[in-house]
Amino acid sequence: MARGEKRARDAAANLAASDLSRPNARPGARPFRALPVLEKDRTSLETCAFCPKLCRGACPVTDALPRETLTPWGKMSSAYFTALGDAPLEASFVEASYACTGCFGCREACDHKNDVTTTLFDSRAAYVDKGVAPAAAKETIAHFAEHEERTRESVARLGGAGFASTPSEADVLIGCGYTLKLEEEARAAAHVTRALLGRAPKIAGGCCGLPLLHAGDQDGFKAHVERAVQRWGGKRILVVDPGCATALTTHAKALGVEVPEVVPLVGEVARSLHRLKTLPAPVLRYHDPCQLSRGLGLTAEPRAILQRITGRAPSEFVDHHEHGRCSGAGGLLPKTLPQVAQGMARARLEEVPSEERVVTACASSLRQFRKEREADDIVTWIARSMA
Ligand code: SF4
Ligand code: SF4
Repeated sequence: MARGEKRARDAAANLAASDLSRPNARPGARPFRALPVLEKDRTSLETCAFCPKLCRGACPVTDALPRETLTPWGKMSSAYFTALGDAPLEASFVEASYACTGCFGCREACDHKNDVTTTLFDSRAAYVDKGVAPAAAKETIAHFAEHEERTRESVARLGGAGFASTPSEADVLIGCGYTLKLEEEARAAAHVTRALLGRAPKIAGGCCGLPLLHAGDQDGFKAHVERAVQRWGGKRILVVDPGCATALTTHAKALGVEVPEVVPLVGEVARSLHRLKTLPAPVLRYHDPCQLSRGLGLTAEPRAILQRITGRAPSEFVDHHEHGRCSGAGGLLPKTLPQVAQGMARARLEEVPSEERVVTACASSLRQFRKEREADDIVTWIARSMA
């Protein structure tokens, strides 16, 4: 059953369950009188609220700031009790939903595979509707139009390297994390795309809208993706940043937006390994970005690429593949809890000996790591190898 259908079915069951006049209503079930919009998430919220916190060790935020309220259970319970109206819509409860990078780590550790990420994003949207979201979230929403404008300008600047920047049918979405803040990596991504296509790629202008989703402006995110998809045109698009890819494939689709086929660039390169030349390289330690590994299920592909380029398998963090630990860069955490976010990156890097070089595949993680030490994006190694 498609994820959207499942959510619709759960929402219908939840609404029915919350009808206390039903003869077989669950004993103790009470309506979400404060945040009725979260009825669609009742199953997910109740699963956590009545759970003995089996996934607590999986949350990187709790690792960095060990507080009971910041475990996945604590965050979901805060959302649950504010929805019921049992807890006030005050900062101490509301901010719990924003203490999450959306890393899907708890889902992997959960026997129910409970979708904490999406549910906490839904609760953020409910808090935005009520006007009680944290200042960092309100600011992100208020300044998104400027962010979009700056992103379009940064994509247009890539045009100077010979790439079309005002496409009718975009070939590739590079992602604002690269085009705005990591221009060298953005150019590398454009070069890789050109090599794959055999012509100058048309680069999608603008942002995928993920900052709006993270901040809690779900309606704004949905409207933005609908407009962007219309503008980009085409039925298939390569996507470089896995955060953009999950925004489109997981979150936008769940909100009912029709998106083109999204092809992660790393996956596409892994299908053309023969095009990669071997290069001299130090030992590379590969960090699994949450959105690529748990979000999109791509763990073997980046490793195959690095093995092909360097002639040996990359070294591994203690936790890796689908159990890899978050860099702290997602879900607006660097804005809502900056020190916690940076502490998460530092904790990841403590494992890496100085002679090894960290490679990741996500703009946000790369920037987070570079605040601590040198690190590369896989796209840089691919571009060098295809040069
Ligand atoms: S995600 Fe699963 S294991 Fe974690 S608190 Fe919720 S129900 Fe329990
Ligand atoms: S999605 Fe990640 S950051 Fe959020 S509660 Fe789960 S483990 Fe923690």
